[in-house]
Amino acid sequence: MTQNSKADSKVIWMDGKLVPFEQATIHVLSHSFQYGGAVFEGMRAYETSKGETAIFRGAEHFQRFQDSMKSLSYATHYSLMDLTKATCELIKANDFKECYIRPVGYIDDGTRGLKLASNSKANVTLASWKWGKYMGDDGQKSGIKVRISSYRRPDISSAMTWAKLSGNYLTSVLARREATDCGCDEAILLDPHGFVAEGSGENLFIVKGGVLFTPPTGYILPGITRDSVMTLATDMGLKIREENITRNQLYLADEVFFTGTAVEVTGIREIDGHKIGDGGIGPITKKLCDTFFKVVRGELPKYSSWLTKV
Ligand code: PMP
Repeated sequence: MTQNSKADSKVIWMDGKLVPFEQATIHVLSHSFQYGGAVFEGMRAYETSKGETAIFRGAEHFQRFQDSMKSLSYATHYSLMDLTKATCELIKANDFKECYIRPVGYIDDGTRGLKLASNSKANVTLASWKWGKYMGDDGQKSGIKVRISSYRRPDISSAMTWAKLSGNYLTSVLARREATDCGCDEAILLDPHGFVAEGSGENLFIVKGGVLFTPPTGYILPGITRDSVMTLATDMGLKIREENITRNQLYLADEVFFTGTAVEVTGIREIDGHKIGDGGIGPITKKLCDTFFKVVRGELPKYSSWLTKV
């Protein structure tokens, strides 16, 4: 049984209708399927400590979804409010207390060649499923083992690096497979100049001498979890420097961790066979991780505006 199988999810929202899981299909010749032009998002809803369900930073995720559409000149008539309401409807219909949510925008209009007019109307679907710890419970608890990929993030002159476009993710899929085939949990991709960029689906931070360092936003997807962690770190009084990071800096870091909707905040214990710090979860990573989970569970009122009650 796969994680996103029918057993986990009863219905999928397709352009205004809740459709049974097995009927949520598109045509095999759809433009987005042929040419990698689907736009997607990934967000999570958490059960708060009051027992309610709340979407974490839904407005920012739907804004990025709209921006990804705009990057491809896709037209959509759904507002952020429409998408939020539909997501709440979907979560309730699936009876989820906690879940991962996958909005997808795509062109399914019968265009068969490459040519696609600007402002072509995109279809939108919203799916959701239960998703536990992306790197497993052990990975979350003890940290993960990663390797630098032979695949690099694409050049910014020919890729929409700020958009979540399905075609972009083939490089991520290959990098992740290369890493797992070598017995690692995840890959770190360098940018075209050889600086550290990010994971296959995660942003990266290092801690050195009590200061946080993270790559600037040119070649990476500017993550919403990255932004959340930077806010939490600043509020804790930590200094953050957004600057180029070398492979050597990774090996010499006191702590390294990933952030992302799927991976949440996950420590890295080993990179290319080099033990990072003491080889466990470092104290700053732990503090940020603990705070992050308090925030998503609604335990820190200061950040309650990041939560949308379902
Ligand atoms: N980088 C890539 C390539 C990703 O796919 C993701 C996941 N969306 C991230 C970073 C983290 O982004 P976020 O925190 O918004 O999920």
